[in-house]
Amino acid sequence: MAQLTAALKRIFGFDHFRPGQEAIVRDALAGRDLLALMPTGGGKSLCFQLPALLRPGVTLVVSPLIALMQDQVRQLRDNGIAASFVNSGLPAGEGAQRTAALLRGEYQLFYLAPERLLLPEFVDGVLPRLAAGAGLNAFVIDEAHCVSEWGHDFRPDYRQLSQLRRRHPTTPMFCFTATATPRVRADIITQLDLRDPAIHLTSFNRPNLHYEVRPKTKGSYAELLSLARGGGAGIVYCLSRRRVEELAERLEGDGVRAAPYHAGLAADQRRETQDAFIRDDLQVVIATVAFGMGINKPDVRWVVHYDLPKTLEGYSQESGRAGRDGDPARCRLYFGAADIRTAEFLIQQKVDPETGEPLEAEQRLGRQQLRQVLGYAESTECRRAVILAYLGESFTGACGACDNCETPKTQVDWTTEARQFLSCIARLAQRGERFGAAHVIDILRGARSERLLARGHECLTVYGIGKQRSVAEWRALARSLLHQSLVDETQDGFPVLCLNAQSWRVLRGERPVTIVLSAAAGPPASGDEKRSAVRVDEYEPEQGALFERLRELRKRLANEQGLPPYVIFHDATLREMALRRPLTLDQFANLPGVGQAKLARYGESFINALRQYTA
Ligand SMILES: [Zn+2]
Repeated sequence: MAQLTAALKRIFGFDHFRPGQEAIVRDALAGRDLLALMPTGGGKSLCFQLPALLRPGVTLVVSPLIALMQDQVRQLRDNGIAASFVNSGLPAGEGAQRTAALLRGEYQLFYLAPERLLLPEFVDGVLPRLAAGAGLNAFVIDEAHCVSEWGHDFRPDYRQLSQLRRRHPTTPMFCFTATATPRVRADIITQLDLRDPAIHLTSFNRPNLHYEVRPKTKGSYAELLSLARGGGAGIVYCLSRRRVEELAERLEGDGVRAAPYHAGLAADQRRETQDAFIRDDLQVVIATVAFGMGINKPDVRWVVHYDLPKTLEGYSQESGRAGRDGDPARCRLYFGAADIRTAEFLIQQKVDPETGEPLEAEQRLGRQQLRQVLGYAESTECRRAVILAYLGESFTGACGACDNCETPKTQVDWTTEARQFLSCIARLAQRGERFGAAHVIDILRGARSERLLARGHECLTVYGIGKQRSVAEWRALARSLLHQSLVDETQDGFPVLCLNAQSWRVLRGERPVTIVLSAAAGPPASGDEKRSAVRVDEYEPEQGALFERLRELRKRLANEQGLPPYVIFHDATLREMALRRPLTLDQFANLPGVGQAKLARYGESFINALRQYTA
């Protein structure tokens, strides 16, 4: 136990394991086959990297994600670990040289794509020599769900990896995935022929993430701008390319180092934006969902969804790109009623391109996904509980780090208003007329619009009976009635309201109606950012100038070596540095994230900067 913790500190500079890591490391060290289900950002790589260094032989890591391979190898090397990779992006000859070095036993970890490993020259040539020479420590299969047809990312190459078990029956296999239903999990075990694997299901809860939903209003942009000016790398997701462009331009105009990213931009430009973001030359990327796959920037401090995401799964992945370093990070979603209409419109567009007939199964799925997203956006319960329930995990109790836990919403009895609203629909129906919520609200508030007067609606008994409530309040009621299924809305083209059996129960006085006064109807939430259990404000460089100076030094050292700054130290290390101000190498070694290699490489430079600052 003490030995393991000592190795963790010596090599990676951490004092503690993150949740779930230690048990996996122990099983790996015991040489057992493993299947570990871990969330992205849960600290997966350490689970196989530490055993790779503590057991003899080479660990081969199979990964389909070329960009991530390079990134991991960079980070390992900066920790003084002998690691390398081969992939199709390398210049001719380079791959052969690295393979030769592998055979000479120069690496402890070696990354490669499955198709590369399965080439006869590798599987028949290199592997047997490796096994007989330096020895095989373990096979790591990353993104193991690719092996299963039931997964979302099936790759036939992955099936062939079962050869490894047949050819090297005594070498343990460690399989990792961030997405696996029980069916996919069973499939991984069968397809790769795992032997009595230790199965680790790590919770998908990311305690360092703070979740909130805010109403989309005219003030939303100002809130976004203030979030960006608060500092930290951020991603803003929008639904369309046009919105991405507009928002990027506006933020740039307001002095934020921001750039757009979407599939319509040239590949060069996209790569440039991505690299600049990774190197901290850009603070904010405004993007469609095309952005984020295969980038592994651990210090993204906030992810904002400026439009409603299409699925809750997408939301959990995109927002999950925040705070992979385990430091506090914010996930904010802006949500307005217009988003629901846009989403419904997009669902109705799912038609057979030849016949124009609606694709019913797809539309049904689309509606179900929309309901799940709305369930999250309009929930009055803990947001974390909603996300985890969707991922098949139950989370009980208040997390203390989402808007709903911090500021419980008030439930109000609006039975009277609900009956006024519904009886207006009933009156219209008696005349054979059906309208959407906007017109119903006009009638209730006694508006004198042309459309209303032309139809003689000012003569209805319900005309003007709801003046005491604002349009926003009536809208909130209408939305709530819809989501509680107390009224129906047609889905074909123009949405009009119609009563259902539940509406009649309300009208007959058989059931009360309570609605939740969300921020959408009340004043926007503000000034509540300091109370959170995930203390995002901690990120704010309270050691201000010093923290910034250390960041500048990190950036300079990173540029000199052509590395992303986070490879040198994570923000958490810099923050501790600013707080503790170590002035000797011994003190410096105690910082989280400082192992022996980093101490030797960067200790002096940072201590000098701290001395100058303190002097
Ligand atoms: Zn909560």
